[in-house]
Amino acid sequence: MKTTRRGFFGGAAAGGLGALWPASALARTQTPISTPAPTPRPDTSKCPLALQDFQPKSMLHVEEHHPQKAKFPVIDIHTHLGWSQRKQGRIVPGEMNFIATPQELLAVMDKKNIQTMVNLTGGSSAAAVAKSIARYDKAAPGRFLSFVEPSWHRVEEPGYPQAQAEELEKAKQAGARGVKVLKALGLFVRSNDGKGPLLKIDDPRFDPMWDACGRLGLPVAIHISDPEAFFLPTDRFNERYEELSNHPDWSFHGKDYPSNQQLIDARNRVFAKHKKTTFVTLHVGNNAENLAAVGQNLDRFPNMLVEIGARVGELGRQPRSARKFFDKYQDRILFGTDAVPKGVETPQQIFGEQLYEIYYRFLETEDEYFDYAPAAVPPQGRWRIYGLGLPDAILKKVYRDNAARVLGLA
Ligand SMILES: [Zn+2]
Repeated sequence: MKTTRRGFFGGAAAGGLGALWPASALARTQTPISTPAPTPRPDTSKCPLALQDFQPKSMLHVEEHHPQKAKFPVIDIHTHLGWSQRKQGRIVPGEMNFIATPQELLAVMDKKNIQTMVNLTGGSSAAAVAKSIARYDKAAPGRFLSFVEPSWHRVEEPGYPQAQAEELEKAKQAGARGVKVLKALGLFVRSNDGKGPLLKIDDPRFDPMWDACGRLGLPVAIHISDPEAFFLPTDRFNERYEELSNHPDWSFHGKDYPSNQQLIDARNRVFAKHKKTTFVTLHVGNNAENLAAVGQNLDRFPNMLVEIGARVGELGRQPRSARKFFDKYQDRILFGTDAVPKGVETPQQIFGEQLYEIYYRFLETEDEYFDYAPAAVPPQGRWRIYGLGLPDAILKKVYRDNAARVLGLA
């Protein structure tokens, strides 16, 4: 065990963030965030344990259930089975890297009652998505579906708006079942060959693309913005401090980044303008901390749905609000995990039996205070979650029926 504050918090601001503070130092939780808090003076000699080394085991004796299989067949609408190939940061047109074989995936899928996995990052052209379809969809018909991504890197070419719409049509002919929008839109993609300002989500150059999605019956799986805490300083008040320290590039605080709300507002303007296009907002509308706001958006936009991938940590720490949310919007919530086979960096997303067991436990049981990710330290924040114990009628919709409707499956 480390006895100093160096190491994990070595680079943190003066004032000391390293050790676990005695209770008196934590009294600031009663101070409103707007008032400057007094600088705590932790007496590290009394608690010489670095936060990174703290891995408490729960002493609760409560009922535990470990569902081996989902109670009903599942469509996982949010997985990543491949990525566009890149060279020096640029996409190599038409080329893909695949992460797993269909056989490896099917072994887990059969055990966990997963009927279909939707591979969202199927490629950013008709030619690329055709490769994903050949590898997965055709290897086991009905078990894998592929989405296509827009070609953001071509946005400044003359004629892009129409060309992008036409490319989606070709992708549909090749077998793509929807369109995936990564958070790159709004947070990474810049004009002037990557050197100019960030492109706006509601840039009118994308209008023909959104319209094409509606016309072609391609649902849009859209990731816009990120957790609220990612837009705040990575400091001692940030509930995702450890996660942001592990992934500094996930912080969108400062620089020329728009705020979380500005991103969501721009996204909403797209929803309002393209009413015939279906939008599946990933990660609980990227606002899982604020289910009231997500509900208001669902009420405003009949063409909006939500998916729950990588957000059981958020939903499960507010089980009463989440349960009401599932009751009210049971026809508009889709099961997804954001699973990546053989992932290592983000435990909440590593494809495998453990991951699905956590989701099933959260949705099906009323278990209390359990881990939302297979990891020694909860990776998205130091808390544990509570199961929702959803009734069968809602489970069937969330696990499969809502996704089947959106994807046009029987
Ligand atoms: Zn994802």
